[in-house]
Amino acid sequence: MKKHSLILFLVLQSALAIAFPARINSWNVDRDLKTLNAHNINVDNVNRATGTIVVYLRDDSEMALLLDEGFSAEKLPDLARENAARLHQNSSKDAPKDDYYTITQYNQFMLDTAAQYPNICSLSQIGTSVQGRPLYFMKITDNPSLEEAEPEFKFISSIHGDEVVGYDMCIRLIQLLTSEYGNNTRISNLVNNTEIWICPMLNPDGFVLGQRFNATGIDLNRNFPMPFGGNQHPDGNPWAHETIAVMDFGNLHNFVLSANYHGGALVANYPWDYTFALAPDNALLIEAALTYARHNLPMYNSTEFNQGITNGAEWYVITGSMQDWNYGFTDCMDITLEISNNKWPPASQLPTFWAQNQESMLSFMEFAQRGIHGLVTSQSGSPLSATITVQGNAKVMHTDPAVGDFHRLLLPGTYTVTASAPGYLPQTVDITVPVSGSVEYNFVLDEAQAVDLIGQLRDIDGFGIPGVSVSIDTVPASNATADALGCFVFSGIPEGQYHITFRSGNQLVHEQDILLTMFNNRLVFVQIEPQQSFYDSCESITNWTANGPWAAVTHMGESVITDSPSGNYANNTLRILRITNPISLQNIIEPTLSFKAVYDLENGYDFVLVQASTTTSNWTELGRITGTQADWQDFSYSLQQFSGQNVYIRFALDSDWSVNGDGIYLDDITVAGIGADQIVFGDVDSDGLISVKDAQAVIDYTVGFDPLPDIDSLPWSTERVTAADVDLSLVLDSKDAWLIGQYLYDPEFRFQAQSGEEAVLPSVSLNAEHIDDPSFIYYVVSGTPAGEFYCIDWQLLPQDGVTNSEVTPSGDIFDGISAFNPHLLKYAHAQLGGSGNLSFAFAYNTSLPGINLAYSVNGQSDVLNLPSSVANEDLVEPPAVFVLQQNYPNPFNPSTRIEFSLPKDQEAWLGIYNTRGQLMKTLLNGQTAKGSHQTVWNGLDDNGLPVASGIYLCKLVSGGKSQVRKMILMK
Ligand SMILES: [Zn+2]
Repeated sequence: MKKHSLILFLVLQSALAIAFPARINSWNVDRDLKTLNAHNINVDNVNRATGTIVVYLRDDSEMALLLDEGFSAEKLPDLARENAARLHQNSSKDAPKDDYYTITQYNQFMLDTAAQYPNICSLSQIGTSVQGRPLYFMKITDNPSLEEAEPEFKFISSIHGDEVVGYDMCIRLIQLLTSEYGNNTRISNLVNNTEIWICPMLNPDGFVLGQRFNATGIDLNRNFPMPFGGNQHPDGNPWAHETIAVMDFGNLHNFVLSANYHGGALVANYPWDYTFALAPDNALLIEAALTYARHNLPMYNSTEFNQGITNGAEWYVITGSMQDWNYGFTDCMDITLEISNNKWPPASQLPTFWAQNQESMLSFMEFAQRGIHGLVTSQSGSPLSATITVQGNAKVMHTDPAVGDFHRLLLPGTYTVTASAPGYLPQTVDITVPVSGSVEYNFVLDEAQAVDLIGQLRDIDGFGIPGVSVSIDTVPASNATADALGCFVFSGIPEGQYHITFRSGNQLVHEQDILLTMFNNRLVFVQIEPQQSFYDSCESITNWTANGPWAAVTHMGESVITDSPSGNYANNTLRILRITNPISLQNIIEPTLSFKAVYDLENGYDFVLVQASTTTSNWTELGRITGTQADWQDFSYSLQQFSGQNVYIRFALDSDWSVNGDGIYLDDITVAGIGADQIVFGDVDSDGLISVKDAQAVIDYTVGFDPLPDIDSLPWSTERVTAADVDLSLVLDSKDAWLIGQYLYDPEFRFQAQSGEEAVLPSVSLNAEHIDDPSFIYYVVSGTPAGEFYCIDWQLLPQDGVTNSEVTPSGDIFDGISAFNPHLLKYAHAQLGGSGNLSFAFAYNTSLPGINLAYSVNGQSDVLNLPSSVANEDLVEPPAVFVLQQNYPNPFNPSTRIEFSLPKDQEAWLGIYNTRGQLMKTLLNGQTAKGSHQTVWNGLDDNGLPVASGIYLCKLVSGGKSQVRKMILMK
């Protein structure tokens, strides 16, 4: 109890200290900012053009410290304090016409507005200030009590209590939205389609005291934890009441866009504040800031900031800002808006500020609709708590689990987007955001089934690599040891996206990303030894041209190259280590620079730049190293942009004016890639592993589908044909598909291309059995001996005089790899297990004495003549049999044609199931006429919603018979 009172006493003491602004005239802004940061002095504003730094000091002792440090500093008049004292003398509860609202009037305004507009307003108190004042957010949206699939947006003002123009702008915005809703189409659309949250005053205590800080002397905009495991309390203070309230509120919601209002400058400032590294959404953040600045002409025409915007760190680095917290810890892209040079201008200027900001506020709120939005749900329609990732962008976004909606703000362009949820199969699609700005896409995820991953690691020659440790990043990670043939099994792994690593001792042998599914669970990984174009063990610096004292030394028991062989590097130095002769990247693909290093560089101020160039000028930065690392760390940078050229590499140590360290130690500098002549036989789709997908690609190729349009559209490149032609027959046929399958099933089996030995396949011949039916010609063709019917492809040779021909593969085709192109009457199939039998029913109508079927079974080609046993000139009716044709096209997007025929008039049912056996769509149900029918499935379910990419089963049921076809929707 005693201790508690003591703390309270201290808090009161600090609240009583009088804070005030001061101006520093600076000759070296960056150096002075660093010193001020080191002393925890609160920097409020920086003007680089005039060399002015405005600080906000807690008390006179901080002023004394500045003078001690030799700063030229002067106290500024504290107009805000006088303004606040005058304003808050007014105890009226009525809103004034021509002045700022007092805090009492403001609270009353919020309560009154919520009461007056209950259909679009709801008032939330997110917490209380240190002195007990409510922290309000007004929620403005249609159906304010419901969670809807709308982007959540927020404005916050006056985290600094003496910066009050934004406070008034937010109040005016609330008035505009509520009074114009239903009268103005633009405002109505905005309110109907956005969940808007507005907090005009986040620091009411500071506002009443007329000061920047909260009541305990904390600058709330330096009080947030830093992203990515950075300092939790960068200002050395515990989190303030107000800070905690905002963080709790932000974590509870799914904000996608926001801005916070300040005064003292005119600029839209975007993340990051704490680092010069660019944010993953840098281009979008710039566009968001410009969207505000463009409509605020004094801001846009700024002479200090180009187009009225700035990157936070470029202006001046601060830590613990609210915008960095928003973007680092939540999905919310937050920008900091400085909207008045004078923090507390006379109230008579407020109408002018409103004229400058109104359009900016509306346009910025509308920006929340940009990009891709939609739902992530299960097959049964339940909303999912999912992540949304965009390829090439490190920022992971999330759905609102209540509704399953996501709003991924993106600029126009085409993006590869993945939706993932625990327990569900991730789904990846390419989505184009049109120039108009916005597109909807709904993800429907399949529930993940537990499957066994049956794998093998082989070398480039097809030999299994024994004894490696295998690890897959399930939670917790699963581990296995490969057997003598390099084989391993992980049992009961949920379908999903994984990263698998192979190690021999501590050495990484191979790593790979995989999408594990029930149809893609038998995988052969191929380990390729990288081909080195350059290697330096760093015993000397003979390969290098050095600028500065670079030398080879022994460090931590290794021969290494360092910038500073004796002691620390110097201040204000640039030391360059450049390779003397360029490295040729001509014969490698995916060239990569790698090395290991330990280093000691002043974090955030001194850097080692890793650069490359095709000349010895115009250096491209591959990366920059800063901070301290006492253990060897591996670095790796792609040199893809220099593929096929000669490239120079250099390391440039660049230090600033103060604080230096031991520098960097480099070892094992390597440029390597995959040899351009390396062909991974069987890896048809070049994804680094051999799987059923490769066999399917060959089968699709055989029937004339374009199997890999994104990778290598038909006709395939020589390299791809070579990778697929594993039997060296110079022809791609079902035999190659079967051999790829065999490679997956038999860990000792090697392709002819690897072993030189031809695989001996069982001899199979085709039999044609005429089925006697007076109304049409009907043959069933099957192979003998049954059960050894491994791989086949055939084509009905086109002949005049054949009409209404229909082909029906039947038998155990689901487990095999097959494709049928009805337009070319081409079929191909490879039965991996080797046990299934297969037959085809050919029904046709002809006056010819017979038709020809060209086929190849297990690589042996022939032509089978199917004679017509009767003259059929009198036949006019098309053949009528119970047949469900393979859909065409297949794979398809967005729609596909389904043909079937019935032997007589009867009840029939046709529908689509997903692979979980759930009925997605009923296409036909009722009495149906004899003969051929066709229908189109447009990829929508019975609720009219688009179904996800994936495998679907089409089923025809009629007259006691049923038939199923597998079809693939690829969006
Ligand atoms: Zn501020």
